[in-house]
Amino acid sequence: MKVAIIGAGIAGLATARTLKTAGIESVVFEKSRGLGGRVNTRTTQGYIFDTGATSVAPRGKAIEKVLLQELPQEGLIKVEKPIFVHTGLRVSRGDQSRATDRYVYQSGLQQLATNLAHDLKVLFNTEIEEVIRNGNKYIVQEEIFDALVLTAPIPQTSQLLWSMSENRPLANAAYRSCLSVMLGFSQPNPDIHYHAILEPEQVHPMTWLSIESVKSPGRADADKCAMVMQMSARFSQENYQKSDAWIIDTALQFTRSLYGESFHQAEVAMVKKWKYSQPTGLGKFEAVNTPGSTLLIASDGITGGRIEEAYECGVKVANLLIDIQ
Ligand SMILES: Cc1cc2nc3c(=O)[nH]c(=O)nc-3n(C[C@H](O)[C@H](O)[C@H](O)COP(=O)(O)OP(=O)(O)OC[C@H]3O[C@@H](n4cnc5c(N)ncnc54)[C@H](O)[C@@H]3O)c2cc1C
Repeated sequence: MKVAIIGAGIAGLATARTLKTAGIESVVFEKSRGLGGRVNTRTTQGYIFDTGATSVAPRGKAIEKVLLQELPQEGLIKVEKPIFVHTGLRVSRGDQSRATDRYVYQSGLQQLATNLAHDLKVLFNTEIEEVIRNGNKYIVQEEIFDALVLTAPIPQTSQLLWSMSENRPLANAAYRSCLSVMLGFSQPNPDIHYHAILEPEQVHPMTWLSIESVKSPGRADADKCAMVMQMSARFSQENYQKSDAWIIDTALQFTRSLYGESFHQAEVAMVKKWKYSQPTGLGKFEAVNTPGSTLLIASDGITGGRIEEAYECGVKVANLLIDIQ
């Protein structure tokens, strides 16, 4: 069996890796020039920012053994400081009873994707806009495959399905957008007992702030500080078209309120706009992927908007293909 996988995010890489272990060949087609999808790291002027997912919390799922035993351990770091909460930028410890182990890589979380992709065939800069179905075969970029796995966020996957006149029960899968702001300060880290703060209610425009250089050593030069701010779903949607300068200015007002005047001027400031950030509604795995089918969907949009869930979905889809081989 030869499998085409569309997308080199965590779900696609999990599918390819699981198939490879079972001796099944796959080709991963990736539209961008890098691995990881929403697990993305940007490095500039000595700052290292995770622009999408901040950390991975394995929570006993399939990725736990892979992360902690099978992949190279070099640069893997357990995040020591907890996540606190904020209400209108007033920070408190919050309920730590559900705190879970979280991991990152010193060089950035995208290293996870690089490690997962080891020995896999990935074609970069290859956006798939059409797949031709020919009997029980799939033709992708003029290559013939026995099975097809779609892993892009569900709105994009739905377009590909539509182009093939295929239909799956995916109406419930919806995503929110997220504006992420990367900030590098020529100031030492603020004196804090957390690595990130979260506002679970999403009332304030700032839902999440990760102090990257507290989360993981080496994310900024000595005496400098790297932060990534994620805006709420509502704020992100309402201000998605605003200029980067406006979004950065808004973000810097919040860092000043939290940490003082010296955090009102950033040495590095960038915006990353995630149109499909995390799902707000999910499709149902069993309804979308039926045993015996050679057209399958692996995406956080049918298991949950987290790395460990995307990985789990990729493994489950690969196992369905292994069963019919
Ligand atoms: C701002 C933000 C913060 C987050 N924080 C966390 C966190 O702290 N912890 C956590 O566990 N999760 C977090 N998540 C969620 C997590 O990143 C995702 O759930 C997970 O990475 C989804 O993986 P995936 O493989 O399903 O999809 P994706 O990562 O979206 O991968 C899909 C891939 O398909 C490619 N693609 C799309 N269309 C095509 C096409 N037509 N042809 C070829 N390739 C295509 C894309 O380029 C992409 O590489 C966060 C996400 C965001 C955006």
